[in-house]
Amino acid sequence: MTDTLHYLDHAATTPMRQVAVEAWLKHSSAVNPGGQYGSGRRARSVLDDAREQIAELMGADPIEVIFTSSGTEADNIAIQGLFEISENNRVVSTTIEHPAVKDAVEKLAKERGAEVALLPVDRHSHVSDLTPLDAPAALATCMYANNETGAIQPIPEIIARAAAQGTPVHVDAVQAVGRVPIDFHGLGATTLASSAHKYGGPRGAGFLLAKRSPAPSAILVGGGQERGIRPGTVDVASAASMAAALTEAVTEMEQENARIAGLRDDLQAKILAAVDDVRVNTAEPALPGHLHLSFPGADGDSMIMLLDSLGVEAATGSACSAGVNRMSHVLEAMGVADSEGIGSLRFTLGRTTTAEDVDYLAAHIADVVGKARNAGLR
Ligand code: PLP
Repeated sequence: MTDTLHYLDHAATTPMRQVAVEAWLKHSSAVNPGGQYGSGRRARSVLDDAREQIAELMGADPIEVIFTSSGTEADNIAIQGLFEISENNRVVSTTIEHPAVKDAVEKLAKERGAEVALLPVDRHSHVSDLTPLDAPAALATCMYANNETGAIQPIPEIIARAAAQGTPVHVDAVQAVGRVPIDFHGLGATTLASSAHKYGGPRGAGFLLAKRSPAPSAILVGGGQERGIRPGTVDVASAASMAAALTEAVTEMEQENARIAGLRDDLQAKILAAVDDVRVNTAEPALPGHLHLSFPGADGDSMIMLLDSLGVEAATGSACSAGVNRMSHVLEAMGVADSEGIGSLRFTLGRTTTAEDVDYLAAHIADVVGKARNAGLR
């Protein structure tokens, strides 16, 4: 990333922290941690340290940390694996889940006859009705914070309501880990998914926190690693790198969150002052770096192209999955009209964001939206 780029897509991924790069390099030649010889034991000890560090930071026991290859894998193991061990065929989810959860739940409905109930959300994508949790289910799943709007969900209330029915709860905390304090035991979740690249760790590494019981059954079979829940040789370097990144993220969290939220609020105020007719889709409680906006009359893809040409990297707030700019299921669930939602942008600020990034974008946004609102680009 050069100095002239203004990277505002930290929810997609955030640059690797130097401590994570160093930890990864240091352990990049680690052998199989299952080896019963000196170098194997040394690799195992690095892995054990990473597991202990992560457990400590997340309020979990080391045995509850299951290393995975991604947040997507952690979500899939939890959802498919908790469904598998239950006699019940109900699944409670929400209308705003990331595809890693949404598609896993839909797969259970299609292939396993799961009966799915979805918790609705309000205009700012906060879960608004917990009634579907009042009947027992194989599992309930809810994201900690939404990846598009940043909305933080009422997880303690959801877990309490589910617990009253004996329903295990999976929390997709991929956007939240490293950005808000999380205490796994205090929360009472059954499983919780995290992904290293969201807080400055390596891509392709994550973990699932899984209580001893009920524990999800494995969706892969193999060598029995990670309590058999995620068999396969663990990448020691990535685990050490992830633990280093999480340690730094948690240590800096309070100070960084205040700094980032300040920049985000400034950006919001400047955009609202510069552009007419803007709908703000992010509302408290929300992650500090998220700012999701709709610009009725503009088109998200056009704005992204114009911003990209100016060196501003952001995401369309209307995730187009098949190359067609359609409104995302999240905006739809929030009740946003198609004509508004299609012109959405998601700016996500993070640890490399500066006041200069904010000022640069604020100076150009009116021109970008104005051009995109012109008939030719709509
Ligand atoms: N869940 C949420 C809420 C996410 O934001 C993401 C990534 O964008 C994922 C799951 C998937 O994580 P990964 O990229 O590690 O597969």
